[in-house]
Amino acid sequence: MEIKKIRCSLCKSLNNGFVLNHYNLKLCRECFPNFFRKRIQETIEKFKMFTKNDIILVAVSGGKDSMSILKALKDLQYNIRALHIDAGIEKVSEKSKQIVQEFCEKEHIPLKIIKLQEEIDLSLKELSKISKKPICAVCGMLRRYILNKEALGQTIVTGHTLNDEVSFILKNMIFWNDELLSRIYPVLYEKEGLSKKVKPLCLITEQETRLFCEITSVKYFDEACPYRSEIYELFKKIVYEINYNFPGSIIGFYKGYLKRVKKFYSETAKETFLKKCKNCGYMTVSDLCSICRLKEKVLQYKHG
Ligand SMILES: [Zn+2]
Ligand SMILES: [Zn+2]
Repeated sequence: MEIKKIRCSLCKSLNNGFVLNHYNLKLCRECFPNFFRKRIQETIEKFKMFTKNDIILVAVSGGKDSMSILKALKDLQYNIRALHIDAGIEKVSEKSKQIVQEFCEKEHIPLKIIKLQEEIDLSLKELSKISKKPICAVCGMLRRYILNKEALGQTIVTGHTLNDEVSFILKNMIFWNDELLSRIYPVLYEKEGLSKKVKPLCLITEQETRLFCEITSVKYFDEACPYRSEIYELFKKIVYEINYNFPGSIIGFYKGYLKRVKKFYSETAKETFLKKCKNCGYMTVSDLCSICRLKEKVLQYKHG
């Protein structure tokens, strides 16, 4: 973001800072981190995500979004633990793991690292071939599965931003994926086999997570994953463009969606979508969950 001389809306000083169009605010470098933390604190309270008595498991990829929420929750003195899933993607995974490790050491945050291959001992490329799904989809599926297994009872924090949430809604509206649309909310409550998942960055843009990391000198991994989904990138770009041309519009859209989602999809309809996997107990839409089905295919593949 462009740095210029501004009159800060908060401290009123004439200082180097930024214009945050979507909030209609001008903030100096000194005031921005506090503003960022305060917005997160307000989101946590507004949606009753967790309290200082809870143990929180933060899923950290090493990118700017998850690093910024990890840093902000630490600064706000929450009781946090970090979980990093190592996808085993050549240099990308090595570098992001290192960033997470160094940060957690420096900030004294307990960190657990799990390799994707511990769940299924094959490379993502092979798994993609066997499942006939894009690498990005298989990777996401496995990550969610491992995260749920690890969390048992603890609240999971993910680094999903406003940009992620709006891209996800738009994409699933274009393809009318009702099952996914019905489950979009900043807090997903614990059901049997699934932990409570919360998104404290759901009202914060990616522009702000980047700014927060840069001002507070938090290192993050800034390279795109070589396997990232093109559809996902396309919707992210559209959302960015919309917000650029109509500042504040995506936050209005998201809040409007949250207001309507319960009307669109009644509670009872939501429940019927999910049941327990016969094999592992993970919540799923069919008899066997996607990971157990994948494991079956892997067995067939290994035995010719
Ligand atoms: Zn200021
Ligand atoms: Zn299963």
